[in-house]
Amino acid sequence: MDLGIAGRTAIVCAASKGLGRACAMQLAKEGVNVVITARTLADLEATASDIRKVANVKVEIVACDVTTEEGRAQILKACPNPDILINNAGGPPPGDFKDFSLDDWRKAVEWNMITPIALIKSTVYGMMDRKFGRILNITSQSVKAPIASLELSNGARAGLTGAIAVMARRAVRHNVTINNILPGPFETDRLKSSTKRMAELQGKSVDEIADKRKAEVPAGRFGQPDEFGAAAAFMCSSHAGFITGQNLLLDGGIFPGAL
Ligand code: NAP
Repeated sequence: MDLGIAGRTAIVCAASKGLGRACAMQLAKEGVNVVITARTLADLEATASDIRKVANVKVEIVACDVTTEEGRAQILKACPNPDILINNAGGPPPGDFKDFSLDDWRKAVEWNMITPIALIKSTVYGMMDRKFGRILNITSQSVKAPIASLELSNGARAGLTGAIAVMARRAVRHNVTINNILPGPFETDRLKSSTKRMAELQGKSVDEIADKRKAEVPAGRFGQPDEFGAAAAFMCSSHAGFITGQNLLLDGGIFPGAL
């Protein structure tokens, strides 16, 4: 299926690794020029080089912290008029409600709510004027079913989901969509390091913990970043102009609700 977005330009935030990288890779394979961002220059350069090996598109890198105003200004300077925006950043740390300071909460909201809102505000009106835009926020399965140790993430991401719901419905008249894509467990560095941490805490092997986590997924496995990238690319396609304000859950069946 031709996604109809060849020649478009995308900003993909937090894209040197994991889910962001997979989104950038898949968009590039569809002919989309990509501006990829992350904090670590060497990782960004490696990812840009990998993308160029598989796709004949322009790949620009911006090494910055997307959760800061300066970082976002750098990204928008490199690409003031994107057709596609994928909002992503690292998630807040796990912990327990009683241990989180108010500054922990402020930081989580800054990272996972204010940052995507700021980039949406800077780009959505230009997209509306140009009559094409696709915005995706990478959030989490925890928006639908809060996760015990991830209260910072649960709160900030649910806040973002509510905050963009009206704009998603305003923008769609101009062929601009805003959707959230909710990962369950995908096999990325983040998942590997959390599995390792759980193994250390429980005095078990990494394989034992990974098998236990996989057994909790109805699919019997972790998701692969490529699968995430493919779903994201479809949501950014010319065919997805009638889908807006939605929460697409990619969790191998973990969420038990029928709706
Ligand atoms: P990952 O494999 O650890 O990759 C994270 C990427 O984000 C890296 O490229 C990293 O590069 C970049 N990054 C992190 N903080 C950044 C910042 N402040 N500014 C710019 N770039 C930043 O993580 P992932 O698994 O792809 O997760 C992506 C998002 O999905 C996270 O918010 C995570 O909480 C959420 N999520 C993931 C899963 C999962 O199973 N993988 C499940 C639910 C939700 P630098 O460190 O060099 O900046």
